[in-house]
Amino acid sequence: MTNIHNVTVAGGGVLGSQIAYQSAFKGKKVTIYDINDQAVAAAEERVKNLRDSYKHDINATDEQFDAGLNNMSFTADMAEAVKDADLVIEAVPEKPSIKHDLYQNLAKLAPKDTIFTSNSSTYVPSTFAADTGRPDKFLNMHFANQVWLYNTAEIMGTDQTDPKVFDEIVDYAKEIGMVPIVLKKEQPGYVLNTLLIPLLEAASYLWGQGIADPETVDKTWMIATGAPMGPFAIFDVVGLRTAFNITKEQRGDNPDFKPFLEKIQKMMDEGKTGKDSGEGFYTYPNPAFADPDFLKA
Ligand code: NAD
Repeated sequence: MTNIHNVTVAGGGVLGSQIAYQSAFKGKKVTIYDINDQAVAAAEERVKNLRDSYKHDINATDEQFDAGLNNMSFTADMAEAVKDADLVIEAVPEKPSIKHDLYQNLAKLAPKDTIFTSNSSTYVPSTFAADTGRPDKFLNMHFANQVWLYNTAEIMGTDQTDPKVFDEIVDYAKEIGMVPIVLKKEQPGYVLNTLLIPLLEAASYLWGQGIADPETVDKTWMIATGAPMGPFAIFDVVGLRTAFNITKEQRGDNPDFKPFLEKIQKMMDEGKTGKDSGEGFYTYPNPAFADPDFLKA
């Protein structure tokens, strides 16, 4: 059992609202801090909108969902938000300038024992450690979208993080229903993306170069590893826009990836942007890869 009872989530957007509600659902007292009254109202709306997902995906009752809501408060006043915080979880936009400023302000306002964690997907914690005024109490705890369902918390400190604080965050992750994924060193992309990105890039290459079509690639991966979906089914979940933007940013200068970008662009122009739009590499709700015949000769 940790000593973390009062939690403040800074940034009540897509991930912040989920992390905050999941913590409240598991009995923590949670405050969402966001930038102004309008953003605070939007965060509150996002949290309330999680009801159907909790009921449908993990069979929560209305009473259980309401008990979680009763553990929450919302404010645009940073001093008020952090005055009793045992833990501040940062989930503000992935822009370094915003995060540097936030940590410098939090450093002045939060009690000296408050632990800070970042949900950043792409920045390792040493990027911001000096801003926090407590580098020994700062580390990353990275959640996945739909935290109640995809319940990993990747935990990564710096060489300045106090091991006791690190362990306490591992325990906190467990207390709120996550499976902690412990990293022993800083690694951009953590464990998951360090594995996943090379797989997705290899799939892009195989299709882009006309070596194999998406179904063949997915079938190979599924039969050979027993995985329930292949890389192109994963692209559909991630969304083709995101896949396009990441590939362009990371591999835009590499001619090997040009055909992939052109093919994805064509699909997007046809409105095929992935699972959310009903069609990407597969059509939904009944994608071909989910049919048992998909794996037959
Ligand atoms: P988002 O844009 O949905 O939400 C950001 C929130 O921060 C908004 O509510 C915004 O009003 C608020 N905000 C902006 N400036 C602020 C400030 N100075 N102080 C307090 N709040 C401020 O972003 P998101 O997708 O929730 O991403 C947040 C973090 O989570 C990023 O670091 C991102 O890398 C990480 N993350 C996102 C996902 C994802 O799938 N979206 C998954 C894992 C991790």
